[in-house]
Amino acid sequence: MKLSTDRILTTHVGSLPRPKPLTELLLAKDRGEPYDRAEFERSTAAAVAAIVRRQVEAGVDIVDDGELSKPGYSTYIVDRLSGFAGRSERVPPLDTRDYPNFNAAMARMTGAQPLRRAPCIAAVTLKDRAPFERDIANLRAAMTGSAAAEAFMTSASPGLVTAFQPNQYYPTHQAYVEAVGAAMQEEYEAIAAAGFVLQLDCPDLAMAHHTSFQDLSEADFLKRARLHVEVLNRAVRNIPAEQMRIHICWGNYEGPHDHDIPLAKVLPILLKAKPMALVIEAANPRHEHEWAIWRETPLPDDKILIPGVLDTSTNYVEHPELVAERIERFASAVGRERVIAGTDCGFGTFAGFGKLDPDISFKKLEAMAEGAAIASKRLWQKRTRARAKARAAKAKAGSARSRTAARRTRPAAARRTKSGVRAPSGPRRR
Ligand SMILES: [Zn+2]
Repeated sequence: MKLSTDRILTTHVGSLPRPKPLTELLLAKDRGEPYDRAEFERSTAAAVAAIVRRQVEAGVDIVDDGELSKPGYSTYIVDRLSGFAGRSERVPPLDTRDYPNFNAAMARMTGAQPLRRAPCIAAVTLKDRAPFERDIANLRAAMTGSAAAEAFMTSASPGLVTAFQPNQYYPTHQAYVEAVGAAMQEEYEAIAAAGFVLQLDCPDLAMAHHTSFQDLSEADFLKRARLHVEVLNRAVRNIPAEQMRIHICWGNYEGPHDHDIPLAKVLPILLKAKPMALVIEAANPRHEHEWAIWRETPLPDDKILIPGVLDTSTNYVEHPELVAERIERFASAVGRERVIAGTDCGFGTFAGFGKLDPDISFKKLEAMAEGAAIASKRLWQKRTRARAKARAAKAKAGSARSRTAARRTRPAAARRTKSGVRAPSGPRRR
């Protein structure tokens, strides 16, 4: 994984706006209606090539395929795994369910969420490798000759699949998530074998507390989150930690979010996950303050942070100075080389749904790149200036020492301090 060694690198969480004709094909396919399969494959490949170019133009260093081939970041698995069929209703999130006026206004703005959430009704196994092989081939082709620093590809974590597709088959939740983990392992390994950074999407470790798993007590939710991380770690046991990132968030929608479980409660569990990079929502008004956790909780040596420095639920374009400020806060807590600038969540979580304007999404990514450049300038210049100052002070102390040596009039004991310890000869090195 590329790290911010000489400047702050930029990336995002995965989904990007899909072209309208492709969205229509995706939705028809998802509804089980007839669609032109050859046209779908052609337009997906072309759209992935275009979206990689557009990310580079916007100044994104670590790019992906925008999840353009998928109807949603979690529901896409029904094409790849056996055991899912039919439709299940979405449970209203705890924070929005008591606000009918808000929900009606929101639906007018975002459109109805048209996606199929198929429950698990039979044994889960991998039934078709072709969809992820096509995704890998499309991204590989798009990266050929690209100026992007690196490519990543997202995949649903075992726990996320169970949060979106309710269990109607396995005797226990544990049996269900373990079966999903075993079935998803091949997709994870194929992405890593292609040389991409694998991002595992895990809103099941945070968002699910007030959505799909809202019936669990907090203690039982945390127990389930621990199980999900154990299953995830087993499923990625053959992939180096340095080639993986893990994303958690509390749901990519503008809502009260006043039922979100605090990061502090899930962090000890998140830190047990194998992936090296933690991609955490951190820019919106409900979670921005949580950066301060990193002043008290040391980031383990083998982890880095990809905090959200852009909110992905509004059309505000963050000022680059604000982006820089956010980056610098994290850099001050964990070190500049251990921060990559990211986004709170995706820009196109579900095809045909959401209130973000596609073009404004790219303006936001441009603002992130500008902000990262400002932060890099300050973070790297600061260190260079500090080093130059230390060198100057050392040189000054050195010339003072040689003057003392030239005099050589006082006895050696007199040159020692009162405590008998030699005084430091110059400013302490950091
Ligand atoms: Zn997210």
